[in-house]
Amino acid sequence: MAQSLDDSQTQPVHNPSGPRKVNKLMVHIDRDLCIGAATCLAVAPKVFALDKDAKAVILETAGEATDEMIIDAARACPTAAISVTDEAGRMIFP
Ligand code: SF4
Repeated sequence: MAQSLDDSQTQPVHNPSGPRKVNKLMVHIDRDLCIGAATCLAVAPKVFALDKDAKAVILETAGEATDEMIIDAARACPTAAISVTDEAGRMIFP
């Protein structure tokens, strides 16, 4: 049985899809674009999960992933819902 995600796993609770700083990257999921395809979870399971609305959120364990994994997950998203910028605000993806 799939484990359900409680709010304590998706910090900050008021803004679970970001924008959120993860290591040297700023990660943001556009909840309007996210269709819950879960590709990002497959690529970077420590970074992304789906909430009860089937929208991707950023996990507390996101910092354990490499920048490469996060960028790969953004690239893999079928709707390009995940945007990634660097510390200087430069767009890395899309
Ligand atoms: S891959 Fe994209 S559409 Fe699918 S859950 Fe992740 S952010 Fe949403």
